[in-house]
Amino acid sequence: MRDLYEALGVGRGASAEEIKRAYRKLARRHHPDVNPSNLDAAKRFREIQEAYAVLSDRDKRKQYDEFGTVDEGAAAARTRWTTRPAPGGFGFRTVEGFADLGEIFGNLFGGFGRVGTPPEAPIEAAVELEFAQAVRGASVVVPVQREVVCRECGGSGRLRSRACPRCHGTGTLVQTDRLRVKLPAGVGDGDRVRATLKDGSKREVAVVVRVRPHAFFERKGDDIYTVVPVTFSEAYLGAEVEIGTIHGPVRAKIPSGTQSGQRFRLRGKGVRNVRTGVHGDHYYTVQVTVPRLVSPAGREAARRVGELYVGAGDPRANLPRSLD
Ligand SMILES: [Zn+2]
Repeated sequence: MRDLYEALGVGRGASAEEIKRAYRKLARRHHPDVNPSNLDAAKRFREIQEAYAVLSDRDKRKQYDEFGTVDEGAAAARTRWTTRPAPGGFGFRTVEGFADLGEIFGNLFGGFGRVGTPPEAPIEAAVELEFAQAVRGASVVVPVQREVVCRECGGSGRLRSRACPRCHGTGTLVQTDRLRVKLPAGVGDGDRVRATLKDGSKREVAVVVRVRPHAFFERKGDDIYTVVPVTFSEAYLGAEVEIGTIHGPVRAKIPSGTQSGQRFRLRGKGVRNVRTGVHGDHYYTVQVTVPRLVSPAGREAARRVGELYVGAGDPRANLPRSLD
């Protein structure tokens, strides 16, 4: 068993007020509603609760300081929480342990409603989309994890004076709901989409969207960027080339005398904005390619192309030659 002072990050001489402060801070950070799919956080939260149950009680603390354990052991110190709404709208509650938990959590969410009935933070879930799904919108099934009270043992962790085999004595189980969520066209990497659990709990879920990058289409906000290779003659003489966009191929003009690296815009060929419905733009950067294979005829043609630069001057004339 971990040292209880260590669990709360306080020294052995910490005052009751210091212990309470440390507990509030840690409980807020590791609360399961804040870290819904994080089992480590749930474990840590329980540890913090257990440590506080002992160290906030003068007699139990004294006993612990003296003997390193408390008589009633972890069972008495154990508390549990549930996502079932408790009377009064409190999202979780203690069953055993300390009386002032409600007061402590009442202050956690500061500024909302009356003490003891904080609004529940949404459960956080994540979904990863293919690039095309994000662009077009998609209906996806999101696994939503939350910790619930073990029904076998009613959350006590004990069954016929043994550790409950279902929850291995922890009193809680992780429940995974499969929630179907409709994501709008244009949803982006890092966006948070709100949804509601369809069971009786009506719990709000914040779905964090991750979008896999595409090998060809680069997305920045609502705009799309691509690189389009062209031949020397296409850049020099001008040409009409096909540009692949997320809306399908588009014929686009490359003006004569186009430079490698020059960028052009196709208005409205980007991603639909989730809020406004207005489409972003597609920018394509022209990249002049050179044939890799050098032939005698090519050598002659290149020499004559080189002569074309004579009138235009040294292309590197304006470059600095060093730092100074
Ligand atoms: Zn159980």
